[in-house]
Amino acid sequence: MADELAIHRAMTVVVMGLAAIVFAVLFFVRAPYGRHRRGGWGPTMDTRWAWLIMESPSSLLFAAIFFSGQHHASVAPLLLFALWQYHYAYRAFVYPFRIRPEARPTPVVIAGMAFAFNLINSYINARWISHLGHYPLDWLRSPTFVLGAALFLTGRRINHWADGVLIALRERQKGYAIPYGGLYRFISCPNYLGEIIEWIGWAIATWSLAGGAFAVFAVANLAPRAWAHHRWYHETFPHYPPERKALIPLLW
Ligand code: NDP
Repeated sequence: MADELAIHRAMTVVVMGLAAIVFAVLFFVRAPYGRHRRGGWGPTMDTRWAWLIMESPSSLLFAAIFFSGQHHASVAPLLLFALWQYHYAYRAFVYPFRIRPEARPTPVVIAGMAFAFNLINSYINARWISHLGHYPLDWLRSPTFVLGAALFLTGRRINHWADGVLIALRERQKGYAIPYGGLYRFISCPNYLGEIIEWIGWAIATWSLAGGAFAVFAVANLAPRAWAHHRWYHETFPHYPPERKALIPLLW
């Protein structure tokens, strides 16, 4: 156990290191998928398959690691497991089939990096909640869990709603359009804001370094992309609402 704790901590530090690298790189290089897709990134693959393959470890491997842990049958870890799967079972196995089949292909290197990240991230989070960490029944009554779970569910709702608006836009017309309504009145990327709120909620609900590392990574990955999307909207649509911010209503 002592050895595994050291390995677990080292992998958590790796995720934080990756967050710092990703944050720095993404402010200069737009990740080349979706609207920012461009040549020069090697072979590509079908985008639906890319999402399914790269996100599936976060559901399947996470479940395998979780159920191998000594606390896997305890109520609080099981509830945390359910929260995680609420996001990732959808993201891995439902979301890919909501994307239009003719979506631009995704570079294999991008899917590969996301897949590798999800392996590490699944290990550090699943192992912590079902084996290395300690979550007695009382944890569910703690302000930490209650606040964290509430944030997680709020973020999930925002993320799911905002992705749904974009998918519906695509069903109505070919190509990109300006999304309107709800949080889109204030920011360009409410789906990313929702995702970030979810993982901050997870970090608080688990009160763990592993959860914290993933929340930091989500910000590092999605804040620069939100900025890239925001600039792209302004460049593409001359009448893009000027008062709209990128990611944080009224601020940024
Ligand atoms: P985007 O907002 O770039 O795209 C989401 C989908 O909507 C794509 O199919 C996209 O098409 C389409 N779309 C986007 N904007 C428009 C528009 N204005 N008009 C028409 N269609 C549009 O999100 P991502 O693909 O980057 O991410 C998808 C989900 O995955 C999000 O919920 C995000 O939070 C999550 N995610 C989480 C990460 C994490 O670190 N936890 C990392 C990356 C994503 P197209 O692909 O053709 O642009």
